[in-house]
Amino acid sequence: MTKTVHIKTYGCQMNEYDSARMADVLAPLGFAPTARADGADMVILNTCHIREKAAEKVFSELGRLRALQAARARDGGRMLVAVAGCVAQAEGEEILRRAPNVDLVVGPQAYHRLPEMLARLTRVGGGGVLDTEFPVNTKFDHLPESVTPPGASAFLTVQEGCDKFCTFCVVPYTRGAEYSRPVADIVAEAERLCANGALEITLLGQNVNAYHGAGAGVGTDGDSWGLGRLIRRLAEIPRLQRLRYTTSHPRDLDAALIAAHADEPKLMPYLHLPVQSGADAVLKAMNRGHTADHYRHLVDRLRRAVPGIALSSDFIVGFPGESDRDFAATLRLVGDIGYAQAYSFKYSPRPGTPAASIAAQVPDALKAERLAMLQACLADQQAAFNDASIGRTLPVLLERRGRKPGQLVGRSPYMQAVHVAAGDEALNGIAQVRIAGAGPNSLAGELATEHGVSATPPADRHMATEAYP
Ligand code: SAM
Ligand code: SF4
Repeated sequence: MTKTVHIKTYGCQMNEYDSARMADVLAPLGFAPTARADGADMVILNTCHIREKAAEKVFSELGRLRALQAARARDGGRMLVAVAGCVAQAEGEEILRRAPNVDLVVGPQAYHRLPEMLARLTRVGGGGVLDTEFPVNTKFDHLPESVTPPGASAFLTVQEGCDKFCTFCVVPYTRGAEYSRPVADIVAEAERLCANGALEITLLGQNVNAYHGAGAGVGTDGDSWGLGRLIRRLAEIPRLQRLRYTTSHPRDLDAALIAAHADEPKLMPYLHLPVQSGADAVLKAMNRGHTADHYRHLVDRLRRAVPGIALSSDFIVGFPGESDRDFAATLRLVGDIGYAQAYSFKYSPRPGTPAASIAAQVPDALKAERLAMLQACLADQQAAFNDASIGRTLPVLLERRGRKPGQLVGRSPYMQAVHVAAGDEALNGIAQVRIAGAGPNSLAGELATEHGVSATPPADRHMATEAYP
């Protein structure tokens, strides 16, 4: 009999990838994915621990699930509840203590063992089962081939974990040490994704450009491939039309990767390159390992290589000790760079990280004030970037239906969301779209030609070297 599993994903794209892999692991046990928690045989919360708010959401969701579990029990059934992801890793024991309705707690490096955990749960009958080991053999060697159709735009994790230890960040503790998957495994997975309909692949890693995977002659000296070389190899897959990668660290943006941006047309002209702060004293206290000018210099090199490249970043405001002058330096850096879009957050002290115990914490009201100023500035830049698209014709990968009938939504090469009046025949293809309007967060346009859709557009449709006005 088919059972159902509802997986709710919080946080980053790596969690989205992991959720799809968990569905693959559970499929052979007869679990089919369902969009509703209500009535499901199993609910998995795939959690994020990066900021306090993200972690808190898990406990309130567990409270809501208790009512659904009780309703299921009244009907004579059972709803299992599992907590996966980074909150599971960081707070496993605490979850089982605070939320006795949780049956399974599984860390991000252990979810390939879900079937064993379910068997153990059946054997022991009650009490939660916990697995938050960082296994020596990586989970990738034990994951089954994907059974979930990827869609036109797919994620592929190539690197996990982080050795950088930024003083604000929990990732090195929840995801463990840096690990790069071998080239051959990645190529095989990318080929499968493309054979199943993917036209775009986003390579994922907490520190994706630190990628250093084993090439063909595994174990031999000098056989470690960087991200630039991996991208060039993946670009050889004929059906694959677009490549992206996220998230990058400025310290690992090497010449080979910049060169790949310059001359690999399938690599999209967009880069998310988090800087966090524009003040050298703050960057030092964050242990970022670069200065604001080093970042400016990198951006200059990138823009010389790809004049039209669109840039995005993450910012943290109110890091302990951040002065008014430091914050002004961040605004200056934003003005110098000119972002197409960006994410910004108030610093959130994370238990166990060095910055959480710095005495000079910034009051919340001041963090909020600075965040509002920064976001206003970033919003202006994003609006200007979007406005400048009006009148251009851009190749758009139409990934899903819009809210309105007869509307599809996709992404421009620069990661802008584009709403297009088009029928379902254009879905999952790349269309030439004339941009007619721009809002703060998206563009609107129409198909440039009657037959503007192609599953395999010629390489010259990419805008990799077109200068952004
Ligand atoms: N590896 C990426 C890098 O080096 O920039 C970032 C990964 S992290 C999952 C995503 C973003 O969350 C970070 O870039 C940072 O801006 C933000 N972040 C991480 N820890 C934070 C904290 N304690 N408080 C606020 N924001 C945080
Ligand atoms: Fe966290 Fe990124 Fe720093 Fe690693 S490099 S510690 S993931 S912010």
